[in-house]
Amino acid sequence: MNTKCKNHCIECTVVSCANHSQTENYCALDKINIGTQESHPTDVRCTNCNSFVPKSEG
Ligand code: SF4
Repeated sequence: MNTKCKNHCIECTVVSCANHSQTENYCALDKINIGTQESHPTDVRCTNCNSFVPKSEG
């Protein structure tokens, strides 16, 4: 498994992201960008991590 350093400032459980540390529930990036797909976000589900990169299969 390709493990990365974890950033304790960014907790994340999206293990299917290529930027996830894999060993614990943290992101490995120094910083991330968060955005929304809504014009007027009203709920946590309205927000997205724009730094997400799909992990390649295999
Ligand atoms: S880039 Fe976003 S989705 Fe991916 S591990 Fe980091 S915080 Fe999670």
